[in-house]
Amino acid sequence: MTPYDKLIFELSTKDRVGYSLPNPFGDYDLSKDIPQSLKRTEETYLPEVAELDVVRHYSNVSRKNFGIETGFYPLGSCTMKYNPKINEEMAALPNLRGVHPLQPVNTVQGSLHIYYETARMLSELSGLHQFSLNPFAGAQGELAGLMIMKAYHLKKGNTHKTKVIVPDSAHGTNPASATVAGFDIIEVKSNQDGTVNIKALKAAITDEVAGIMLTNPNTLGIFEKDILKISRLIHQVDGLLYYDGANLNALLGYARPGDMGFDIIHINLHKTFSTPHGGGGPGSGPVGVCKKLRSFLPAPTVIKKRNQYDFKYEQDAIGRVSSFYGNFSVVTKAYSFMLTLGKENLSKVGGLSVLNANYIKASLEDEYFLPIKGLCKHEVVFDGLKDKSTGVTTLDVAKRMLDFGVHPPTIYFPLVFHQSLMIEPVENESKETLDHFIGILKQIAYEAKTDPEKVKHAPYTTVVRRLDEVLAARQPKVKYKDLI
Ligand SMILES: *Cc1c(COP(=O)(O)O)cnc(C)c1O
Repeated sequence: MTPYDKLIFELSTKDRVGYSLPNPFGDYDLSKDIPQSLKRTEETYLPEVAELDVVRHYSNVSRKNFGIETGFYPLGSCTMKYNPKINEEMAALPNLRGVHPLQPVNTVQGSLHIYYETARMLSELSGLHQFSLNPFAGAQGELAGLMIMKAYHLKKGNTHKTKVIVPDSAHGTNPASATVAGFDIIEVKSNQDGTVNIKALKAAITDEVAGIMLTNPNTLGIFEKDILKISRLIHQVDGLLYYDGANLNALLGYARPGDMGFDIIHINLHKTFSTPHGGGGPGSGPVGVCKKLRSFLPAPTVIKKRNQYDFKYEQDAIGRVSSFYGNFSVVTKAYSFMLTLGKENLSKVGGLSVLNANYIKASLEDEYFLPIKGLCKHEVVFDGLKDKSTGVTTLDVAKRMLDFGVHPPTIYFPLVFHQSLMIEPVENESKETLDHFIGILKQIAYEAKTDPEKVKHAPYTTVVRRLDEVLAARQPKVKYKDLI
């Protein structure tokens, strides 16, 4: 334990200061100008430390953190992809970083060019006609998409269309977004391999169905081979197909949701297009639509007329979903990512992410239980260790992985299996990194057989050992004062 393992509050010494600056107002008491009602009634409680303590505190805290830049991070469904430094440099260019959203439109033509071109590239990659980059996150893109679905039906007088179909394997945000948009959910059961059960789907389709929300490949990494049939069935009742684009990585360069019949899509720029995420942002969840829905996109849209860019406020627009035009710095990073890869390399992303997932799958099949055989796409789901007699659970395996310095995969999701271990290696990890990871998982499987207690009590090398996760979620202590 070093002094810097303490909380910064514990380092505090009364009246110690980081900086002492001369008062630019001399003897004048500024606090006289602040109305009494706005003044604090209690002392603030802030740590009193020297500048050097602050620097050491944050440097030490950063070393306790884990990120894509410290190690392998195969978190399923999250596409934890390295963000090349050039993207940050581009987003930080003074002319991009320093613009104000209220500047006259003729002074921000360069920024609007980036916005417009990024939207065009997303159209090209996904096969959808037009995009709005305004939503701040995937889930917000979903909500915008569902609001577009609703606006489309209302405009057509389809007031009876109040239901949205969501498969039971969907990401939790899907039913949430549809509910917030005012739809009722019809849950349809999946087949054993996680694909949509066509019989159950047919039974669920009525004239009240406004649309379906799907992700393809699905949450189990399996490609929905009946997608054209599903698309026909939904379109037959004038329903719309919504594509949850969080799994777009698997398709890049190989297939396009628009060609499969999808009408609305959201894409997570902070997954497929490499902006760092986790810990809450910043994100960007562009929403794209087919031609017949373009006038419903959130306002304003960016248009190009005679080589000039401008904003347009469509009459049908669902309204604004964000202040101004979304997270522009994330858009810039995605634009830089696409341009630096170029068309040829961008179309390798899907292939390599699928290859990596299948390499891991084939390498671990002997030790871990693989419920769905055959080719997977960008991620592979195991249902815990193959040998169930040891009593070692997926949680134990994940905790033991921490001792080897890799981030565990997503665990206990999807819910269709009891011991899910969902691994998404992304496209840009080397074979050496994958082999290292496979070696660790084999070693843990061996330990589970020979010394199960060791795995059950892991981790051993981390700052804290096993936490009471239920208590931490139910009664989080997020302030130092809660602890004392
Ligand atoms: C990440 C994810 C989302 C939500 O995206 P956020 O940006 O976190 O709101 C939706 N669906 C799937 C399948 C995802 O993996």
